Amino acid sequence: MMSSSTNSNQVVTLVSRHSAFLPFSLSRYRRQWFLTYPRPYGMTSPQGQRIHSMLNIPDTSVDEAYARRHFWLYDPDSLPYSPEKDSDERFIGSRIHILLDSETPVVKLTGRTRTEQSKSPRDYGKEFTCYEFEVLIPDEGLLRQCYYCFAWEGEGPMTRFTACGDDVFWCEECKEQGKVVASVSGIADKFYRDILAPTFDRNTVARDSLYYY
Ligand SMILES: [Zn+2]
Repeated sequence: MMSSSTNSNQVVTLVSRHSAFLPFSLSRYRRQWFLTYPRPYGMTSPQGQRIHSMLNIPDTSVDEAYARRHFWLYDPDSLPYSPEKDSDERFIGSRIHILLDSETPVVKLTGRTRTEQSKSPRDYGKEFTCYEFEVLIPDEGLLRQCYYCFAWEGEGPMTRFTACGDDVFWCEECKEQGKVVASVSGIADKFYRDILAPTFDRNTVARDSLYYY
């Protein structure tokens, strides 16, 4: 095991038979939750991408403090989840199963459900059941991304990034450069790398970022 919820300065990983035992982690920026890869894996596209998927549509109708501990799983393709029936089955890639059947408990259902409509062009308007989740691990257990250079934790030895603002983190290098330098050069670089460059160069793919949302 890479980590456990008892060590508060570790990224907590979800491991389940539904992901063929590939570890996942959770990340969050304000009200937006993500399923992430705690390490760069070769099979992601583009390579090294760390965001697997967004888990929710940010809920602005509740206090942000509440939204930082809860989310409604937005998954129009979600398979039904029943703990008694599913105990040995494998639902490869099913996020509700990956979340709930993790060997380390990371989230639980609150018991509340609601009906949502799909916003995907493929099945626009299709109704599906949304489940509300409560996050059981502390914020320290979430995988962090540097706000300035978009580096992720877990590139090499796991060194934790530190807070540089409300819900914002920076890596060791950006921290050494200092906040002013990092914000000026970082924003210019991000603008070029992720907004300008992909529009005229098809080989440049916007880096995945928690902070776009
Ligand atoms: Zn950085």
